[in-house]
Amino acid sequence: MTETATATLPGFDVEAVRRDFPALQQRVHGAPLVYLDNAASSQTPRAVIEAIVAYYENDRSNVHRGVHELSQRATAKYESARGRVQRFLNAGGPEEIIWTRGATESINLVAASWGRTHVAEGDDVLISAMEHHSNIVPWQILCQEKGANLRVIPMNEAGELRLETLDELLTPRTRIVAVTQVSNALGTVNPIRQIAQMAHDVGAVCIVDGAQAAPHMPVDVQELGCDFFALSGHKMCGPTGIGALYARRALLEEMPPYQSGGDMIASVSFEKTVYNDLPYRFEAGTPMIAGAIGMGAAVEYLEAIGMSRIASYEQDLLSYGAASLSSIGGFRPIGTARHKAGVLSFEIEGLHPADLGTILDRQGIALRIGHHCAEPVMRFYGVSATTRASLAFYNTRADFDALAVAIETAKEILA
Ligand code: PLP
Repeated sequence: MTETATATLPGFDVEAVRRDFPALQQRVHGAPLVYLDNAASSQTPRAVIEAIVAYYENDRSNVHRGVHELSQRATAKYESARGRVQRFLNAGGPEEIIWTRGATESINLVAASWGRTHVAEGDDVLISAMEHHSNIVPWQILCQEKGANLRVIPMNEAGELRLETLDELLTPRTRIVAVTQVSNALGTVNPIRQIAQMAHDVGAVCIVDGAQAAPHMPVDVQELGCDFFALSGHKMCGPTGIGALYARRALLEEMPPYQSGGDMIASVSFEKTVYNDLPYRFEAGTPMIAGAIGMGAAVEYLEAIGMSRIASYEQDLLSYGAASLSSIGGFRPIGTARHKAGVLSFEIEGLHPADLGTILDRQGIALRIGHHCAEPVMRFYGVSATTRASLAFYNTRADFDALAVAIETAKEILA
């Protein structure tokens, strides 16, 4: 690999970073793996794998309940991981971080708890035209249950939200504004600060789907001014099955439990249950302990590199990738917003995405073909699927060179 193929940010040694990821060292179908499916799930660095193994080998036990040494160690690691996520997001305190299974569960928690108690017949829930199904369906179900209206902020052809419509869409009946910070299908970065401010101006709360933002840029929930922020561990180098919800303490304090059972209680009798303190009130049952510890290690790993450096490196790579793909005949980008992160979605004229994906896989290239759980976005662009290359800080310019060559090969095979 040449120097220019990899080095794009002074002081950032991507080859050293790549060595931290065992899965990136393999060959697939005889070719070196080019992993460009990070928006679906990123790879895991050795530090995260080791943190999980250490828990299972040394500290394996339940949290919060045991007086014995192993349980105390497990609890300390589990709570320390919560503190790491709190600092990563700049939340006001650890009690504002709830462990969940991922962004999907985080959003469902808000819909089921805050939503059920605050949304009434005739109210509005406002989402955007570029949401992942996880940030559509929970609100649809809530609106059906309550007789409320689901409204949608439209977007333009570039895949940018038409914010001028907010003046009309936001009314005193708007209870919730639920928007993604970064679109998983288009890569668009939305101006959350502005949207949260406008939501608050009409008395609504703002929930941000941060699943695609947290892996790619510094996130400061206080700066953004949002009320809730959902994230997934497995998209930011952590394990699968773990995620978190940031929620403002004042809101959490008056929210009813989401699920009930062990650990979320202070005392139980047949007559009455007193709920536990925050955040445990929202964490019923034995949690995904190894996952939380792994996610804490992932956050530590990302912070050691630095989220600002990750953002700078990836911005350069995104521009390089967009330029190299656009030289391919028949290339049509889907999503050309001015401010993007992490994602290049496209079509190649005359090639069916499924055929293209299969041939790319045979050349060791992993990317995503499909609707990306964002069917309304596909409908907007009049396509059933796109091909999506999504990057992480361990990708290189050489990965995009390999992708461009592999697409040309696919074109020849399918001609
Ligand atoms: N929101 C966005 C923007 C996503 O890209 C995804 C996953 O692809 C999700 C939510 C759901 O995340 P998870 O499946 O980890 O809960």
